[in-house]
Amino acid sequence: MDETGRSGGETARRWLRLVPTAIWGAGLVFLALAVGEARWWAGGFVLAGGLAHLLLRGADGNRPRSTAASRSRNQPHWPDASVKSVVEALREPGVVVDRSLALRFANAAASRAFGPLVLGDPIAMRFRAPDLLAALERAVESDEAEQEELNERLPADRSWGIDILPLRLAGEERPPFLLLLFRDHTQARRLERMRTDFVANASHELRTPLASLSGFIETLKGPARDDAAARMRFLDIMQEQARRMSRLIDDLLSLSRIETRRRLRSNEAADIADILRSVARQLGPQAAEGGLAVRLVGLDGDGVLVNGDRDELIQVFANLFENACKYGGDGGRVEIGLRRDGEGVEAYVRDFGKGIPAEHVPRLTERFYRVEEGTSGKPGTGLGLSIVRHVLTRHRTRLSIVSEPGKGSTFSVRFVRFLDAMEKH
Ligand code: ADP
Repeated sequence: MDETGRSGGETARRWLRLVPTAIWGAGLVFLALAVGEARWWAGGFVLAGGLAHLLLRGADGNRPRSTAASRSRNQPHWPDASVKSVVEALREPGVVVDRSLALRFANAAASRAFGPLVLGDPIAMRFRAPDLLAALERAVESDEAEQEELNERLPADRSWGIDILPLRLAGEERPPFLLLLFRDHTQARRLERMRTDFVANASHELRTPLASLSGFIETLKGPARDDAAARMRFLDIMQEQARRMSRLIDDLLSLSRIETRRRLRSNEAADIADILRSVARQLGPQAAEGGLAVRLVGLDGDGVLVNGDRDELIQVFANLFENACKYGGDGGRVEIGLRRDGEGVEAYVRDFGKGIPAEHVPRLTERFYRVEEGTSGKPGTGLGLSIVRHVLTRHRTRLSIVSEPGKGSTFSVRFVRFLDAMEKH
């Protein structure tokens, strides 16, 4: 937009308005000649000129006109260059409106955030938020600063905190302009929502076993007081519920510890082949007890160092291994291994169970997410893979899940070799 606030589009429209006049002019020239076919040409041009005139009026009529816009055009001056350069220098989106709430200036950050803004248009055309407009009216009325929140759904979910600041200029009795300064609160709002969701989910998950425990205590104190057989059965269930609560608390603590832990140090190295062997050693007997064969693949050769924290990576692969036994155990065998290639290594855990339906796969690492039909009767909290995801994010890598219903699932993680990772730092 140029200094006077006239956009390139507006200049083009002014030229366009001359088109009917030009066509009518040509018609008049032919009329003046008034010989032979020239009369038909004259008639044609006059008709075409009329049509062009009507069309252009129609197009202009679709353009939003407002009293605010026309009022603003009559105002004596635009924000001066120094005001503009200050607003332009802001990192946050900044928009200047006049007292009639017509847009007078928008900095580059505002154009990036809100798309092209047409100078002279009422601000209400872009921000259709009654609360914001009311706050602007109040600021115009009182000449005092105001604050407002704006939540946009489209084109994306965004939250803005807006300071409305009257701009006082020398020689002016009242501030002729208002600066709208937008601060992006999207991330803060998202975190806030995640935190409240998390607390709600965690309490819900704890309340279920707790309700069951209190129910059984009531029964044991009352109707089942003298029933020895029922007492033993109920105590077993209560023990299982208590275990569930303690698993949940362990996982929650684990998750919060990982979330608050600082970034992984770049000089920390761990042998991923040894980590996988260690997981198989620790959990193999348990798998064998459940009738599962455990196969180690690619773990015989030399160690492979990756940038990582040994204990955290053990936690990751133990989690994946336990899941493979728990949910993929009907396949009869589990594989844990390493694939090496020129660029790095891929550590994986594979099962041959009934797999995971495709629609669940992208959601598995969400907190508390469990696939209903796969978990019936199997203890779990739905937090294991969420912990895995957090640890891997700290390790600047991620979990890949490939699952084929009826054939099994592979959970894998790619690492760059330690020396290559060091070179990148
Ligand atoms: P939990 O095991 O405590 O339920 P996880 O976060 O470890 O929580 O796993 C989330 C869900 O993903 C599980 O409840 C299960 O439905 C599904 N899942 C995980 N691993 C497998 C697997 N190897 N095969 C089939 N389903 C799995």
